[in-house]
Amino acid sequence: MKVLFCACEAVPYAKTGGLADVAGALPAALRRKGLDVRVMMPRYRGINRNGLEPVQQVYSVIGGTALEGAVWMGTSSDGVPHYFLDQPFLYDRGGLYGEGGRDFEDNLVRFAFFCQSALGLMHKTWTPDLVHCHDWHTALIPAYLRAHRNPLPTLFTVHNLAHQGIFPGEQFPLSCLPPETFTPDGLEFYGNVNVMKAGLVYSHALSTVSETYAREIQTEEFGAGLDGLLRARSADLFGILNGVDYALWDPSVDPHIPARYHAGDLAGKARCKAALQQEMDLPVQAYAPLIGTVARLAPQKGFDLVAAALDAIVATGAQVVILGAGEPAFEEAFRAASARFPHQVRVIIGFDEGLAHRIEAGADIFLMPSRFEPSGLNQLYSLRYGTQPVVRRTGGLADSIVDATPENLRLGCANGFVFDDYTPEALVAAIGRAVAAYRDPLLWRSLQQVGMRADFSWDRVAGRYLELYDATVRRAAERPS
Ligand code: ADP
Repeated sequence: MKVLFCACEAVPYAKTGGLADVAGALPAALRRKGLDVRVMMPRYRGINRNGLEPVQQVYSVIGGTALEGAVWMGTSSDGVPHYFLDQPFLYDRGGLYGEGGRDFEDNLVRFAFFCQSALGLMHKTWTPDLVHCHDWHTALIPAYLRAHRNPLPTLFTVHNLAHQGIFPGEQFPLSCLPPETFTPDGLEFYGNVNVMKAGLVYSHALSTVSETYAREIQTEEFGAGLDGLLRARSADLFGILNGVDYALWDPSVDPHIPARYHAGDLAGKARCKAALQQEMDLPVQAYAPLIGTVARLAPQKGFDLVAAALDAIVATGAQVVILGAGEPAFEEAFRAASARFPHQVRVIIGFDEGLAHRIEAGADIFLMPSRFEPSGLNQLYSLRYGTQPVVRRTGGLADSIVDATPENLRLGCANGFVFDDYTPEALVAAIGRAVAAYRDPLLWRSLQQVGMRADFSWDRVAGRYLELYDATVRRAAERPS
């Protein structure tokens, strides 16, 4: 089967979050299963054209403006062919989707052009058997195919329903779709254009990145205004938890960390912890529980809880290291906290891949108190690094972390600490349990062993995508455009 995998970020070329990790690893895992999967993404600033081959020119008229671009091809180090859409005016910028905390105003044009170009590529250069689209940036592809009566099977994966690509209704013509699609059954959303709806309405099958999130987004609380549509498509909606690329995220091979270790010998982890404390200018204390977190500083991630709970967390004697960038209000609050607790709290504002790895390796406890979390990757990375996660029971966190209750400990399946209520008190209670467990070395060691030996590899996940691709092809055959 030939699959065009359309995603607007992919490791190692461009990354703002988990989508890039998925688009960097899943295509390679699918190729290992024998599929011819190729990725298409924009050529952003920083993606070097050296070593790429020109493939074809693309051309579209969007909102009366003629746009020309070129598709280049390269192969990633794990053998996945990548098509890069080159259009410097649209993509050669200081950010992927925006700059300085604000989205680019012409994002509808930028991603409509991307989707039109994907069609151009499929028409002229490489025709797949299925298109796998990811998040709203690629959601117009199924709509264009439908408008052209092209029956090519389409799977649309939601990585985060909070980002829907909503634009003022006047911008609808920039979507390049026929006017009859601007209705509540199509892209119209309370007078605005909702680009993600194009993916949700016109694709043959839908998926999201955990089974729990697939259920949650069909409820009013998590549906972000699209729960009705998702309930209507419930029979076509699947949930598959993301996997881990252990070539990149495993302390036995990780080049970013100062000492390597594995489940059989954790001596290197103690060295990673001391090095992290030193790097963060915190007292180098082996016995102080070190709590780490790495995330976009967005309301989704539960940082309002962390800010509210920080005094109580510090009172447990723990050290806290936070790496993130995003909303200025959170950045400010955490900078202030860092100044208030200079010996216990360190906040690094920015995006730093190497430090993210060093925190995974050096921390004892990893914090993910998310309000919602489609899949979450860092809790899975944490397990492999022997860093016990404290998570809220939602989305992919609920599907991967088993609370250290006496019962689960007895069964040998506990791998972290889970809380339910979205309150600082519930977070503090969970951290209190984690810190108490940390102070019991035998118990801690057994939790680490369960986590480190678990297998969340993409090779396991890829098999489920194969089934989903087959289901998508069947649906397309039953319901041609
Ligand atoms: P999301 O996709 O919502 O951002 P995930 O947990 O699925 O959340 O994936 C986040 C990915 O982005 C992880 O690989 C994480 O390490 C990385 N990441 C997030 N913020 C930063 C940062 N400030 N520096 C380095 N890596 C980061």
